Amino acid sequence: MEARTTPAQSGGDVLLVFSERFGGHATPAGHPERPARATVMATVARRWADGGGAVAAPDAAPAGALLRVHDQLHLETIAGTAGRSVRLDADTFTAPDSEEVARLAAGAAIRAVEHALAGATGVAFVRPPGHHAERDRAMGFCLYNNVAVAAAHALSRGLDRVAVVDYDVHHGNGTQWMFYDDPRVLYISLHQYPFYPGTGAAGDVGREGGAGFTVNVPLEAGAGDADYGLVFDTAVAPILEAYGPDLLLVSAGYDAHDRDPLGGMRVSTGGYARMDGVLRGVAERCCGGRLAVVTEGGYDLDALEACLAGTLDVLAAPPAPPPASPAGSTRRAEAVLAQVRRAQAPYWPAL
Ligand SMILES: [Zn+2]
Repeated sequence: MEARTTPAQSGGDVLLVFSERFGGHATPAGHPERPARATVMATVARRWADGGGAVAAPDAAPAGALLRVHDQLHLETIAGTAGRSVRLDADTFTAPDSEEVARLAAGAAIRAVEHALAGATGVAFVRPPGHHAERDRAMGFCLYNNVAVAAAHALSRGLDRVAVVDYDVHHGNGTQWMFYDDPRVLYISLHQYPFYPGTGAAGDVGREGGAGFTVNVPLEAGAGDADYGLVFDTAVAPILEAYGPDLLLVSAGYDAHDRDPLGGMRVSTGGYARMDGVLRGVAERCCGGRLAVVTEGGYDLDALEACLAGTLDVLAAPPAPPPASPAGSTRRAEAVLAQVRRAQAPYWPAL
């Protein structure tokens, strides 16, 4: 199944994991998380392959891999939708093939991790997204929590420190709660706040042994490249370096883009590329380059296409120092960083 071609045209060893089957999860007319998103992913994947990039098709995640983060009843609920169209919550739907497609999405995240464990970069272009899916239920367009399945898979392979950075405009409630008391998974989220799903306050830092291993950066609507740049340079990268992960995962949601119809943020395509560049640098310094990117949201098709291509370009380019901090107002970042420092000071004193 694997259509491996010559190594990527430049620097890094990047494997793109993608399946045309991701278009098979149909949603009702007008739904933003629509099959056309998979068409965009296919276009970017084809261009990547034409340029010499490696592409692999995923296998469906086995039940055992899903059960590391979901309960049995949830698997039965999703399996029970096979062959039918079901409304699972106000904005989460299945079509006849959705359960199969969702298993492939989780399997793609696992495949990206497997590639990353060899000291390389795995990128999974998937839908449906995953970070709102909870242990016991589908939520917010998400059926299985792809990035959480990936993190749990990495733990099962013997790693004991996995970091997840989530720059989707929405808070990844599912990922947060799955690892809320687990110091083996550091979850860092930047998100619009207050906003759907309502979670992700700065004071939510994890509990018991996991205290300090959840870092929420709830940004006011309107934050742009300079805000995200400042948060990355002064909080995300320093916390990651202090934690020293064995593997870095990215919940790559592109709905903080200025063009996105759902999000209220102003991140540009270049702003996203810079975040990816910072994360790549951290992975090279902290964990031998082990980096796996799993897509989440992103509902403007032009922005999605540009950002997906930009992510691949940054990760495959020869290593370079991160570009300078983007210019512009950092008022929103400064406001949230004060809250984050207050909440996280007991755990990350160098912040
Ligand atoms: Zn989102």
